[in-house]
Amino acid sequence: MNAPFKNLIAGEWAGGVNASRNINPSNTNDVVGEYAQGTVEDLNNAVAAAKAAFPAWSRTTPQERYDILKKASDEILARKDELGRLLSREEGKTLAEGIGEAGRAGQVFAFFAGECLRLSGEMVPSVRPGVGVEITRDPLGIVGMITPWNFPIAIPAWKIAPALAWGNCVVIKPADLVPGSAWALVDIIQRAGLPKGVLNLVMGRGSVVGQALLEHKDVTAISFTGSVATGRKVAAACIAGNPMKKVQLEMGGKNPLVVLDDADLKVAVEVAVNGAFFSTGQRCTASSRLIVQAGIHDRFVEACIERLKGLSVDDALKAGTHIGPVVDQSQLDQNLKYIQIAKDEGGKLAFGGELLKRDTPGFYLQPALFTETTNAMRISREEVFGPVANIVRVKDYDEALAVANDTEFGLSSGICTTSLKYATHFKRNSEAGMVMVNLPTAGVDYHVPFGGRKGSSYGPREQGAYAKEFYTTVKTAYTLA
Ligand code: NAD
Repeated sequence: MNAPFKNLIAGEWAGGVNASRNINPSNTNDVVGEYAQGTVEDLNNAVAAAKAAFPAWSRTTPQERYDILKKASDEILARKDELGRLLSREEGKTLAEGIGEAGRAGQVFAFFAGECLRLSGEMVPSVRPGVGVEITRDPLGIVGMITPWNFPIAIPAWKIAPALAWGNCVVIKPADLVPGSAWALVDIIQRAGLPKGVLNLVMGRGSVVGQALLEHKDVTAISFTGSVATGRKVAAACIAGNPMKKVQLEMGGKNPLVVLDDADLKVAVEVAVNGAFFSTGQRCTASSRLIVQAGIHDRFVEACIERLKGLSVDDALKAGTHIGPVVDQSQLDQNLKYIQIAKDEGGKLAFGGELLKRDTPGFYLQPALFTETTNAMRISREEVFGPVANIVRVKDYDEALAVANDTEFGLSSGICTTSLKYATHFKRNSEAGMVMVNLPTAGVDYHVPFGGRKGSSYGPREQGAYAKEFYTTVKTAYTLA
């Protein structure tokens, strides 16, 4: 099969003798497109192209880089409805969520266009007479990127934009399940005027293309987003190589949302249902662990169930759908497995959890809410990555905070309360990279740092001006004059 959607290598759409079918999870009879499955040779060619392009690209002026990133941003924003539709069709999040994500990709490019113009250094007096010290930032070289399926355009955007803004060349391997959005993004950026070889796209399997990227000696750094299991392999490969690679990992979560007795019930239910179940719960920042104080517990459960009953789980592209399908059969199997595990552990399935039939064949699952669970159960400790959440009942704020922090993850956390005292204490003491007060744990701004701690993240933050900590390297120059 010859793929119509090929890899971008050295500025040419190339390769693609082997193709894979991109299937719509809302309707498995619908083939979104046939996309090239890259080979190790494709990857090697892409890295060689990036290496050849780097000397000239790294010396371009901030204005040249600004113009390209701004032009890319303008096209993404102008086409966000179309790009959002493609995204929803291949990944299964609702059309509104897909368009929102495409818009975010455009905003990310606009932000980093501005960052091209803002990079600065420092002049520091030396401790030695007559000597001046300059501290500047250089690009890294070739940055390899490996991305997951759940944010098919936003994550490639928030890695590619800062890399290019600060003068790096890129080889990106998107998730093989959803290559369409990354392909469309790369096409836009290339046509915005990027010199050949600066940005290369090699689609295909993680074990083939991804592994070759990790092992290539000319790749300077790897930015990875995905599961903890793959992240460990990525980090190990980056350290094992010679030279070692700089590495940044964004991985899973088991994000807690605390609901205190003094919370506004309506706000808490919206925050919980959005955070746990929107985007089909397939967000690293999803509030899959709801930690609820005893005094509000029963009212909260009842109100959540009422809210869930009113949500439509259906074709992602259909008007009125609140929750789209699960991304594929293997993720659906994983969700069902965890629903069974939670039942076997003694959790009470208070709502949902059953497969749904719709007009078209797809991976439809009614969101599942468990009550009567403890924080020791597997359902509280392991990332499911689907529309499955559980409630742990606690007696007071101190217990809530202790339970919230009792996890090997640390990406996002949240609290619903009307108390300034508890909100402030939680912000200071929650062991997470991002803390939300009366807001869903998922859903973040594009101009500020994103990332976590403990088992969720490794290395510098992504997004915002802080992204320069990963995408640049610091140089200290001394002059005697
Ligand atoms: P995954 O780890 O299975 O795959 C991620 C990427 O790694 C894919 O492109 C895959 O092809 C590639 N890969 C797999 N094996 C590889 C190997 N041996 N060498 C190199 N690359 C390899 O993750 P996924 O299922 O695509 O995504 C879901 C996971 O991503 C969840 O755990 C979720 O929490 C996490 N995630 C984290 C964030 C964050 O910012 N923290 C954001 C989104 C998703």
